[in-house]
Amino acid sequence: MIFIDVKGEEKGGGTVAFRITEECIACGSCLDACPVDAIKEGEEIFSITEDCTECGSCVDECPTDAIVEE
Ligand code: SF4
Ligand code: SF4
Repeated sequence: MIFIDVKGEEKGGGTVAFRITEECIACGSCLDACPVDAIKEGEEIFSITEDCTECGSCVDECPTDAIVEE
């Protein structure tokens, strides 16, 4: 049986295309750039949740180029 995830389609297939690497210095600049609050603070580095719509807005906000497209 094939399930169609409507939410996933909106996100471009349901996979998180953007992720934050260990280059993150937890500055928080990307938080305000995200229109859907998909970026979460972590203990050491931030992370991008599955709420990401792959808009790309956060990428240019990062001073260390820690946000990369998979
Ligand atoms: S790509 Fe867009 S939706 Fe995804 S985390 Fe960055 S700003 Fe948020
Ligand atoms: S802008 Fe870059 S360095 Fe700053 S918290 Fe976001 S991912 Fe980390």
